[in-house]
Amino acid sequence: MIDRPDRAMVVIPHPDDGEGGCGGTIAKWIEEGTEVVYVLCTNGDKGTSDPEMTSERLAEIREVEQANAAETLGVKEVVYLRYPDGALEDTTEFRGLIVRAVRKHRPDVVFCTDPHRQTFYLHRDHRISGQVTLDAVFPYARDILHYPEHRMEGLEPHKVGDLLMWGTEDPDTFVDITDTIGLKIDALKKHVSQVSGGDRDVADFVKARAQTIGHRAEVPYAEAFRRIQFRR
Ligand SMILES: [Zn+2]
Repeated sequence: MIDRPDRAMVVIPHPDDGEGGCGGTIAKWIEEGTEVVYVLCTNGDKGTSDPEMTSERLAEIREVEQANAAETLGVKEVVYLRYPDGALEDTTEFRGLIVRAVRKHRPDVVFCTDPHRQTFYLHRDHRISGQVTLDAVFPYARDILHYPEHRMEGLEPHKVGDLLMWGTEDPDTFVDITDTIGLKIDALKKHVSQVSGGDRDVADFVKARAQTIGHRAEVPYAEAFRRIQFRR
């Protein structure tokens, strides 16, 4: 278990990954007073099987869907980096954008995808956004001489306390989301373009998964993370 932080940040590869990965935890913490900022890395412009859809239109649709989902959970702000879907690379520029967001919003806890997976495939954007977030938090956001241009903008270095990674094969931290699973489902349903099987399928899928994780944590519904604690 982990104490509720004052401020949290979620680094999200594609629209809807944040709600799927940690939406219940975010909803719970926001209700209890945590301020949450999203950093959405890509615009999700490849996420369709509709041959009539264009990437441009899909990006517009998904940005609105993400804003609606964030509003449902009570997220304070969504930072849109707007990289194309599938185009994330481990670059100085991308890392710098995450570092800037961390230095600006000063989260105690940062959520991201676990970039390490041995036994199952992992979307490239999930792997890269997870790894880049890890690097951005430590040591780049912490150390004053990395991205010195940020100081010219008035942004000081920042030490994050904990990183919580969803989609992990080795969870060590569980959050009871029994009271907020409804909000998580409501937020996921805002991603209308991604809900192929209908609203009921979403609810069933989310509940089944949260129940399996909850079984390990001995609560009805839970979310699971791998936690890295930094020395503050
Ligand atoms: Zn994704």
